[in-house]
Amino acid sequence: MRVVLVGPPGAGKGTQAQFIASHLSIPKISTGDIFRANVSGGTELGKLAKGYMDRGDLVPDEVTVAMVRDRLSEEDAQQGFLLDGFPRNVPQAQILQKMLAEFGTGLDIVLELVVDDEEVVRRLAGRRTCRQCGKVWHVDFDPPSVAGVCDACGGELFQRDDDREETIRRRLEVYQEQTSPLINFYSDEGILVRVDATGPVDEITRRALAALRTSPN
Ligand SMILES: [Zn+2]
Repeated sequence: MRVVLVGPPGAGKGTQAQFIASHLSIPKISTGDIFRANVSGGTELGKLAKGYMDRGDLVPDEVTVAMVRDRLSEEDAQQGFLLDGFPRNVPQAQILQKMLAEFGTGLDIVLELVVDDEEVVRRLAGRRTCRQCGKVWHVDFDPPSVAGVCDACGGELFQRDDDREETIRRRLEVYQEQTSPLINFYSDEGILVRVDATGPVDEITRRALAALRTSPN
């Protein structure tokens, strides 16, 4: 089964990608992992990508696409895969479609994890990180016994800039701008399935797997 997983920050996409891929016995392929593998493996593409990253520039689409193509050509991806973090936009989705057509195949399903903005803000803005050991707590879901103090090491807890409400809302806006056209593209293709990503983690996995079983293809 060939699956693409999309979802906003705070939807638990990384965790779900892991669970779903292992249930289906297919590799989870995330752009982050591909980048790291190419950079640490010292491939030509890795060196190219690293050059951009070291300069603080975005890695161009062609480089990302070439890495994805290499990864999808590997043996373990021939029976299926779960893509996380790619495609990010419609041009990338079109390139992926062409690439898979060359391989004689296509996507079976695109799973969209759906969480409303307020829930994302509640999840992310409640996070507190220990200055000393780096452990992450949550003011509502995983509070330390004394507010502001790490149970593990006694260190002081603080809110990372990334976890500030303004930052989260801005990231959600960017996500909407970039992803709505992508969602529409896959919806038009007839392969989009939306999965409610609120509630317990294993419940969300169960819903996602049920959606995959009823996939249009
Ligand atoms: Zn700590």
